[in-house]
Amino acid sequence: MTDEFDLKHIWHPYTSMTQPLPSYKVKRAYGVTIELDDGRKLIDGMASWWCAIHGYHHAELDQAVTEQLQSMSHIMFGGLTHEPAIELGKILLNITPPELEKIFYADSGSVAVEVALKMAVQYWTAQGQNSKTNFITTRSGYHGDTWNAMSVCDPVTGMHQVFGASLAQRIFVPAPQTAIDEIWDPRDIAVLEQTLAEQHQQIAAFIIEPIVQGAGGMRFYHPEYLRQVKRLCDQYNILLIFDEIATGFGRTGKLFAWEHAGVVPDIMCIGKALTGGYMTLSATLTTTHVAETISHGEAGVFMHGPTFMANPLACAVAIRSTRLLLSQDWAATVQAIETQLKQKLNVLSQLAHVQQVRVLGAIGVVELKQPVDMQVLQQQFVEHGVWIRPFGKLVYVMPPYIITQQELDYLLSQLVKVVSQMDVD
Ligand code: PMP
Repeated sequence: MTDEFDLKHIWHPYTSMTQPLPSYKVKRAYGVTIELDDGRKLIDGMASWWCAIHGYHHAELDQAVTEQLQSMSHIMFGGLTHEPAIELGKILLNITPPELEKIFYADSGSVAVEVALKMAVQYWTAQGQNSKTNFITTRSGYHGDTWNAMSVCDPVTGMHQVFGASLAQRIFVPAPQTAIDEIWDPRDIAVLEQTLAEQHQQIAAFIIEPIVQGAGGMRFYHPEYLRQVKRLCDQYNILLIFDEIATGFGRTGKLFAWEHAGVVPDIMCIGKALTGGYMTLSATLTTTHVAETISHGEAGVFMHGPTFMANPLACAVAIRSTRLLLSQDWAATVQAIETQLKQKLNVLSQLAHVQQVRVLGAIGVVELKQPVDMQVLQQQFVEHGVWIRPFGKLVYVMPPYIITQQELDYLLSQLVKVVSQMDVD
């Protein structure tokens, strides 16, 4: 099952090189099926970590890449531009808040976050405000694995212990406690209010994943939290950054999660499902005001420029993927998945070892009381013909939107079976 060379030489995400977890070798993937090397077929519950919203080997997306290959696969973006970048920019600026009028392409979610943080600092230094260099965020957040992205991840479930003093010290406030379906509790904002009053002179921006805190705990919080954050950011002269890398492109039931609250950030990061999971591409969007302020500063330019910026292949498939999404009644599709997730997963909330079951859009989460043994559970899921990768106390699914009712039924039945039978002594 596991490839010997792979096991010995290739590092996988968050794994040990002396005790690596098994990696199942995939032969191909199509639709919502992941076909393993040994012929086993798994129904995909993960959309390759939020990305593959249209499933795998999609005829139209394949075609977009193939067509783009005929003209150019890559060209540097310094001093040159191309139609795929322009066309994609038009589409994206049209579906994101109208206040966001400038777009910077990068090559992964983490880099989009780095870019957002750098924009925020340059915005203040351009105005001579050289002390506004730090960031504030909530606990339980996740923003990526590069240096500064990591510094604003949850300090406990994130990687702060491992990297210790090498990591910049950020300002953390408690994670929002009022859930999306609860009555808003104004006490949720109290610590933030107090912290901003005391420390706003040193803060460039507040960064948060709107509505859904993903890898930091799969938590769904109340939209009022974002409205209050916006009010405080305005009051204390702090930029607001929304990390929509996981939540974008319909996953939460809105095209982008900011729409749940109607709050427009100064800077927004998108990635993951941007290319339908075909290639790595991300973007950081901002307002004309932020962009012009940076451009009028002493540096005169924004100081970032990745080699693979606006890669034409990635832009071409992003155009097709986004058009494909917008051309369908995606909201109804996500709503139908949500309904089915609720119907099928709710039985698990009765179990003694289950803390909570929660569903939002096409995201279904089963939070257990104890952390799971990922290797054991993963193997059981594979034996049951589904691809679900738990972490910590969380077993969750976010399937491709093209999943049929029957496929989703199968995926969830197997999930329920495995979780119900979990050995919990
Ligand atoms: N922000 C959020 C909210 C994410 O979920 C992720 C990826 N899990 C990232 C940033 C980082 O993206 P990437 O892995 O593409 O660098």
